[in-house]
Amino acid sequence: MAENNKNKYQATIGLEIHAELKTKTKMFCSCKNDPDEEKPNSNICSICTAQPGTLPVINKEAVKHVLKIGLACNSKIADFTEWDRKNYFYPDIPKGYQISQYKYPLVIGGNLKGVELTRIHLEEDTGASTHDAGNFSLVDFNRSGVPLMELVTEPVIHSGKQAADFAKELQLLLQYMGAGDANMEKGEMRVEANISVSPTDKFGTKVEIKNLNSFRTVERAVAYEIERQIDALEKGEKVIQETRGWDEAKQKTYSQRVKEESHDYRYFPDPDLPKMMVSEVFDLKELKKELPELPWERREKYVKKLGIKEQDADSFVNNIELGNFFEKVIAGFKENKDLIKLASNYVSSDMVGFMSKDSTLKYPAPEKFAIIISMASEGKISSRVAKDLVERLLKENIDPEEVANKEGLIQKNDEGAIIEIAKKLVAENPKVVADYKAGKEAALMFFVGQIMKVTKGSSNPQIIKKVLLSLL
Ligand code: ADP
Ligand code: ZN
Ligand code: MG
Repeated sequence: MAENNKNKYQATIGLEIHAELKTKTKMFCSCKNDPDEEKPNSNICSICTAQPGTLPVINKEAVKHVLKIGLACNSKIADFTEWDRKNYFYPDIPKGYQISQYKYPLVIGGNLKGVELTRIHLEEDTGASTHDAGNFSLVDFNRSGVPLMELVTEPVIHSGKQAADFAKELQLLLQYMGAGDANMEKGEMRVEANISVSPTDKFGTKVEIKNLNSFRTVERAVAYEIERQIDALEKGEKVIQETRGWDEAKQKTYSQRVKEESHDYRYFPDPDLPKMMVSEVFDLKELKKELPELPWERREKYVKKLGIKEQDADSFVNNIELGNFFEKVIAGFKENKDLIKLASNYVSSDMVGFMSKDSTLKYPAPEKFAIIISMASEGKISSRVAKDLVERLLKENIDPEEVANKEGLIQKNDEGAIIEIAKKLVAENPKVVADYKAGKEAALMFFVGQIMKVTKGSSNPQIIKKVLLSLL
């Protein structure tokens, strides 16, 4: 395809994202909601396996998660909501229908990462089938009835990167709220992308890609699909409405189901479940107060208010454990920008560096880390000593202040002490002195190095140089 023809097309993407919610129990029964349970069919009961005569009961914890996500996204919260039966047959859906929300989703509209939302509703997850165990299929109902939220965006995304960034932000939001881990590799968050391209303002035919199970896959599959559709149109072909999958090995999308059969799920309100007036069950003002600092709020605080480098800010925001550690380190710094920036450097380059080299290292006590930063900032210890102390804090859980005092690591600005050491070294190394006098600059560095060694890196290098220059 001629590159310059590409620009005349606008790509349009709308996402449908399912995410399992973190709750104590399942959506409509009191079975444990445990995504890590490995023994099949151990968290099941008569409700989530659809025995006749059983009645579902709404899990308010799950409803609350969805309402809070809506509040975080400035969405409209529905006052009236009801649950509908979405009827279809599949072995992993024992009732013959899934309880979902059709006409009255809990959340309408809103915005996340600059992308307009259509709706967010709540439903129940299906069981999980396995077809590759042998000449038969297996079904595990541990997942059956796990609270599942579905978020639908408006068709306002324009690239694979933007689609992946949106999904990543949603994952962070769920994690920050404690509403879910949304681990894509584990299937806790599942992305479907609808994609069309068009040379005009009118939308083209959309293709749906299902089962995208990593952010990288979302980005690549959408980018691939945009190219494929443009290529087709450039060749005078038509894009057909279909469902496609992503072939990881070939890095291509492939057709799964042509001609999207217009499903008739025969949705109707579930007669077993009460309709809900949200404001009678939840106080939205109170829920709003429960919202934690949100990912985008933290990002803005770091970059705009505290002046942290964008790359470091991103690593703190994207890694919630690291970010919470950093928050605790700077908690006592009272928005002192210099201290915070110094802390940011030592956390994101030194500490993260040591931890990535040795995966057994755990996060240290943030108060101890903060002490190292304060000592470095006040010039009590040199940057080299600070780095060493960070490493020893991680590996030996030392008390940094005690070690610095005991081992004589406090930076010596005391000229007298340095003069004594320098005099002794000069007397012991006449040959090096001669070299220096003969014009060898390296000889001076030898003495600087020796003094640093004797004082375990604790001497102020400026003062050492001054002393040496006057001595020699
Ligand atoms: P359907 O009825 O086929 O399920 P919807 O209107 O419910 O379609 O939209 C499903 C998803 O597809 C939404 O995320 C929406 O933004 C997206 N979408 C709709 N039309 C297009 C289009 N022409 N191109 C890309 N995405 C689209
Ligand atoms: Zn159950
Ligand atoms: Mg639809």
